[in-house]
Amino acid sequence: MAQKMEIIARQTSQKKIIYDYLMSVKIHPTAEAVYENVKKKLPQISQATVYRVLNNLKIKQKAITIMSAGVAHFDADMSPHTHFICEKCNDVFDVPDECSNCGILKNIKTKVGKINNYKIYFYGKCNKCEK
Ligand SMILES: [Zn+2]
Ligand SMILES: [Zn+2]
Repeated sequence: MAQKMEIIARQTSQKKIIYDYLMSVKIHPTAEAVYENVKKKLPQISQATVYRVLNNLKIKQKAITIMSAGVAHFDADMSPHTHFICEKCNDVFDVPDECSNCGILKNIKTKVGKINNYKIYFYGKCNKCEK
């Protein structure tokens, strides 16, 4: 019993550390990058655990993924915001104000149904790659 409690406590803290890490960064890390960072705090954690926790966060709608060059980047910022994907380094950036007019898309009735929400991705070369 005590052992089971211990396992649950450990899983909870693993989950919390992964979630806290994701909340604290703006870099939209890949699952692998999350694993590399979390490993510093939890040296015993397995890659499979990190992937499972990330997938659960996604299912519970506490995180989203943005695909860049076929790789999922994680974001725990659930507020509606637009992303910029660099076609050179494949990094994902937040673009906070660039799409203030896009709200007009909401409630528009299309041939297949009414729009409740939308996601917009900008593609280009980031400032770092442009240099
Ligand atoms: Zn770039
Ligand atoms: Zn974001």
